[in-house]
Amino acid sequence: MRIVSGMRPTGKLHLGHYLGVLKNWVELQKENECFFFVADWHALSTSYEDKLNLKNLSIELVRDWIAAGIDPQKSTIFIQSAIKEHAELYVLLNMITPLGWLERNPTYKDQLAQIKNKDIHTAGFLTYPVLQTADIVLYDAQAVPIGEDQKPHLEIAREIVRRFHHLFECEIFTEPKELLSPTPRLLGLDGRKMSKSYNNAIFLSDTPEEVWSKLRVAKTDPQRVKRTDPGNPEVCLIYDYHKAFSDEETIQKVEEGCRSAGIGCVECKKWCAASIEKVLEPMRERRESVSNEDIAIILQKGEQKAKQEAAKKMQAVNKAIFEVS
Ligand code: SF4
Repeated sequence: MRIVSGMRPTGKLHLGHYLGVLKNWVELQKENECFFFVADWHALSTSYEDKLNLKNLSIELVRDWIAAGIDPQKSTIFIQSAIKEHAELYVLLNMITPLGWLERNPTYKDQLAQIKNKDIHTAGFLTYPVLQTADIVLYDAQAVPIGEDQKPHLEIAREIVRRFHHLFECEIFTEPKELLSPTPRLLGLDGRKMSKSYNNAIFLSDTPEEVWSKLRVAKTDPQRVKRTDPGNPEVCLIYDYHKAFSDEETIQKVEEGCRSAGIGCVECKKWCAASIEKVLEPMRERRESVSNEDIAIILQKGEQKAKQEAAKKMQAVNKAIFEVS
């Protein structure tokens, strides 16, 4: 199956990104033909004022992907803005997309209501589902891994495809199916959403010392004031991290030891750090083995393949629109 998915380059990736997206991508690439792209134009839809160095951020994002196990031998990796056909198709699809479809998009309405620190009343933000459609259908993606919240976007993509086929009397795109992926949410170490801006995230590039310094001060069950106080792991973030990264035996030991006060929080956190280290250590090795030159070659190769596919598709699109018989 051909799968297309992208990620915005807005900063270092953390364990939440790994658990929510990258772990799934690593699995998907084993059995599927995957195209993973750095969505740098999408980053501008909400961060156009932030003066991001998108070039560097894009390279660092690819480095994080490779560290996490995305294999450039198996997957096609590229930067969205390197393939101008995304913009070309976006313009053409905008011509046929009714405004109402975009204005009714629940994610659009939610984000307008929630994001108060940025002005996102822009054409780019309203029409980003059209750009997403272009990103996907340009490569005939059969499936797109998404979380529950992105279902409306994929529905818009399918509707745009149907409208295009109807208007231009052709069948040139593949209607993308959703691949609903489990997106376990991992909260940050202060109990809020894990985010760089809250300073509560463990990054994929953190050293063991950095991980420990973050875990050491993380909140635990407030009932465990003294070492001898029994606790409730269900109200403790560290237990969530164990459930995400520790083996069954360790999870069991934490559950029992916490409730019986058989273990202390420092000991429990050390086990947690060791479990996280099992995930991060191989990432560190892969990160060190990939140079800037390697990333440039990976992108060049990925962009060559993506360009070939995209140009072929745009030929068919332009023929359907401009050579009406
Ligand atoms: Fe949390 Fe572990 Fe302490 Fe229990 S023992 S409160 S799970 S850190």
